[in-house]
Amino acid sequence: MTDHSDIARNLSEVKATIARCAAEAGRAADDIALVAVSKNHDADAARGALAAGHRLFGENRVQEAEAKWPLLKTEFPDARLHLIGPLQTNKAAAAVRLFDAIETVDRPKIAEALARHMNEQGRRLDCFVQVNTGEEDQKAGIMPAEADAFIEACRTQYNLPLVGLMCIPPLEDEPSLHFAFLREIARRNGLTQLSMGMSADFEIAVQFGATHVRVGTAIFGARS
Ligand SMILES: *Cc1c(COP(=O)(O)O)cnc(C)c1O
Repeated sequence: MTDHSDIARNLSEVKATIARCAAEAGRAADDIALVAVSKNHDADAARGALAAGHRLFGENRVQEAEAKWPLLKTEFPDARLHLIGPLQTNKAAAAVRLFDAIETVDRPKIAEALARHMNEQGRRLDCFVQVNTGEEDQKAGIMPAEADAFIEACRTQYNLPLVGLMCIPPLEDEPSLHFAFLREIARRNGLTQLSMGMSADFEIAVQFGATHVRVGTAIFGARS
């Protein structure tokens, strides 16, 4: 378990690194949001980051987030939560209720379910389309060849509040190729937000235009 002072120190180090990489890339540090990934860590770890003033978090499982975040959100009402893991249609209603953004929209069934539950609940969540830039069988995300048509469907058919794209590069690949590829798909579709970069590669992601980096281990320590 990582104690609160370690979490506060890690957070300020990651933020300083983001600011340095942004400056090197001629970007404003404020244009890059740090999504602190608290998955597999208990509520007390998240509370450590909240106590240090951080407000934006990512979780990859709806059920785990439901166990942790309702109470944390009553303690810190301005905390914001992004879903960064695969979503099943039977969890879409709960996801719309709890999260503030969904970064993993990757197929028509999920787009339809999210749109329907947002309408029913009167909520509009920022949505990112996840692109499987490495075309890995085991990984979620729309295939690159289908991305343009799916983005169009999200906008016109499902009327989702689409803001950007997200990717998770294959472990063994050079991440910059994937970041540049994702940026190009976003550019040609008029999308401005790019969620890319994790503990191991967020510095490169900032160079390549990330607007959201998702960092877990570098803030909260290793996951059990
Ligand atoms: C776990 C996870 C992260 C954070 O990974 P770290 O290497 O711990 O920074 C980022 N994005 C997604 C989608 C994840 O599942």
